[in-house]
Amino acid sequence: KRKRGEDEISSLIQRVEDLDLKSSLKNFADLPLSEPTARGLSASHYKTMTDIQSRAISHALKGRDILGAAKTGSGKTLAFLVPVLENLYRRQWTELDGLGALILSPTRELAIQIFEVLRKVGRYHGFSAGLVIGGKSLREEQERLGRMNILVCTPGRILQHLDQTAMFETNNLQLLVMDEADRILDMGFQKSVDAIVDHLPKQRQTMLFSATQTKKVSDLARLSLQEPEYVAVHEAA
Ligand code: ADP
Ligand code: MG
Repeated sequence: KRKRGEDEISSLIQRVEDLDLKSSLKNFADLPLSEPTARGLSASHYKTMTDIQSRAISHALKGRDILGAAKTGSGKTLAFLVPVLENLYRRQWTELDGLGALILSPTRELAIQIFEVLRKVGRYHGFSAGLVIGGKSLREEQERLGRMNILVCTPGRILQHLDQTAMFETNNLQLLVMDEADRILDMGFQKSVDAIVDHLPKQRQTMLFSATQTKKVSDLARLSLQEPEYVAVHEAA
């Protein structure tokens, strides 16, 4: 694993601090990003940011909670994956630090899609990442969980581990992402999500994304986010 220079990290931290939230940025290259993320994005041919990305990522890089709404296909995945990678990188997260980020997705298929984007864009990072969506024996998953830095999971399955897997520690967790929060709630996962959040440290960054803004989503946001930045992208009329 490449040894990171302290100078590189502190200059990156400074650039994030100096980032002006009022200026609207167009390209990923305009953001203060680590070299592994910048390389992962360009190797995946991502250059220009979508609206939700350019409006959410800067705030998220500064550690703000995010409540984001934008229709399907608008690029929400990178809007949370880039901050997840960056915020762990700037903390110099290693395997010894355990679970740093938990990403919840309503379905196995969507979780797999997120995981694939993570593997692509995060390929130059040293983080370990796992997919926890059931389908394998609980025991098999249990053995790997303790070593993961980033997990993409469905609510039911991760809750099973939180309740039953002794080695699975979440007390160091920095970021929680709830993707497609509207669908998570529509599918009846409200209680599971509440129980998951109960297992996590209160001091954390939370990003909640959905395609629609519903009462249930804003109720969930009120309970799980702290002074979030609201980012809603509407289609031009
Ligand atoms: P959503 O989660 O909002 O439905 P996705 O994150 O799945 O949207 O992205 C939808 C599609 O747009 C994907 O095929 C993705 O690769 C592509 N995409 C996302 N961001 C960008 C970008 N900045 N530039 C080009 N394509 C992008
Ligand atoms: Mg999505």
